[in-house]
Amino acid sequence: MSTLGHAWLVGAGPGDPGWITVAGLEALRHAEVVLYDRLAPPELLDEVPADALLINAGKAPGRQALTQDETNAALVEHGLAGKRVVRLKGGDPYVFGRGGEEAMALAEAGVPCTVIPGITSAIAGLNAGGIPITHRGVAVSFAVVTGHEDPTKPESQADWQRLATATDTLVVLMGVGNLDAISAALIAGGRAPSTPAALVQQAATPGQRVVTAPLSEIAETARTENIQSPALFVVGDVVALRDQLDPQNLGPLAGKRVLVTRSRQQASTLVSALRAEGARPLVLPTIEAQRRADPAAVANAAHQLREGRYAWVAFTSAVAVDAFLDMLAEQGTDTRAFAGTRICTIGDATARALAARGLIADLVPDEATGEAAAAAMAGLGGLRNEPVLLPRAENAHPALPAGLEAAGALVDDLTLYLSAAPADPPADVLAAIRAGAVDVAMFSSSSTVKNLAQILDGDLSSLSGATIACIGPTTAETARELGLAPDVVATEHSVPGMVTALRAHLWEQAATLAGSETAS
Ligand code: SAH
Repeated sequence: MSTLGHAWLVGAGPGDPGWITVAGLEALRHAEVVLYDRLAPPELLDEVPADALLINAGKAPGRQALTQDETNAALVEHGLAGKRVVRLKGGDPYVFGRGGEEAMALAEAGVPCTVIPGITSAIAGLNAGGIPITHRGVAVSFAVVTGHEDPTKPESQADWQRLATATDTLVVLMGVGNLDAISAALIAGGRAPSTPAALVQQAATPGQRVVTAPLSEIAETARTENIQSPALFVVGDVVALRDQLDPQNLGPLAGKRVLVTRSRQQASTLVSALRAEGARPLVLPTIEAQRRADPAAVANAAHQLREGRYAWVAFTSAVAVDAFLDMLAEQGTDTRAFAGTRICTIGDATARALAARGLIADLVPDEATGEAAAAAMAGLGGLRNEPVLLPRAENAHPALPAGLEAAGALVDDLTLYLSAAPADPPADVLAAIRAGAVDVAMFSSSSTVKNLAQILDGDLSSLSGATIACIGPTTAETARELGLAPDVVATEHSVPGMVTALRAHLWEQAATLAGSETAS
């Protein structure tokens, strides 16, 4: 007998990939086949096992989309083939998501199925735009309706006449194309033309935009502001609460489009720290470490190290730690080779990478700069004529070898890799940068700045309106050389240190702005 498959209809929530349920994430992490929607946050696909089959049900190659029948058929087919199938849908599967039809098709075909709810854009999308769907004393009821059908057509199922005044808050999904007719129908049904209304486009994503106007003018405002689907249309007095509840007024990072420029592997800790405070990270990997070492030079360094000829080995990055230890291993050499040598690491992440390979640094200078490291090493017994091994990137910053040589050390500069800009930067993030849509740009090393400049053909001027945050003075100096004016230079040179400094800067800036507005 063949194995019995199972299908999960998973609500992904709207926009922010953190808004999926724990159960939904579990299902994704164990999926063998995933059929995903245009509205499900694309970042969630990173959670799917690497060997799973991904099917874009929102856009089939060469065609618009799979039809509902084709989607149902695909779910059934993979379910009957014994697979763990996840159908990932934006928002909640049962809110205008055709989840009911899919569950029925699976049941009919004898494929077991679990429906996992999601938070619907109707509620959470408004929230992201600073509009609470209910509020004590303002709104005690709400309705959610589809605006897909033109209200002037007789076949429209929605009773706009009654909806107009039935609830305090009215939320319309899929209504962007019919705004004129819908607002006219609501006013004809007795809703005051002055009722506050809003549109929230691409809620909880870096592309979020909110426009507000009285009900009688909202369709025109949407046209002038070029509001596009997907967007939520909301009518009711709660819209006015946005003045106070706009997430951007509640937290320093909320709603901010933050450009993260590390390597894809390193970006995740920074991205989660930013998301935890409601930021909308735009990830543009700017660094890819391509290993490139001269085997003879590595063999020689390994030999010298085993013989205890180096006074120090200094590591300036986690990538260098891993590359060097991997290359030693290829030579049949393990960490015992370091027995007679002191180790210095620059930066907390470097020290952690070293610890992960079973070695504890003898020295982690307080300040993560080449100059400080050279001074700290010199401070521990002098460096005159002492051999120091520097396994590092081909194009690394010259401050450390220069400082060491100035102290009299004999530097063995061992090139292990080239940190280069990746060949295929994500087009949507590039477009956002070029459109000046970045609020904050974060740089965690000189190479991230240099490579971004290279990706942008040497022109960083589209970041001139953004807050520039750097991990430390060396990175800030590189940023200045390339025409940026750093606003934040972290005093603790680590990712959490950079986030802490950025939060403080933005919060202070917001307080100053608020103060000057009250004063004027
Ligand atoms: N099941 C989904 C809704 C699907 S209908 C849910 O529960 O949210 C598609 C409509 O949902 C879109 O036309 C738009 O009106 C709304 N929508 C979904 N995600 C959105 C988002 N991130 N921002 C704004 N509107 C969104």
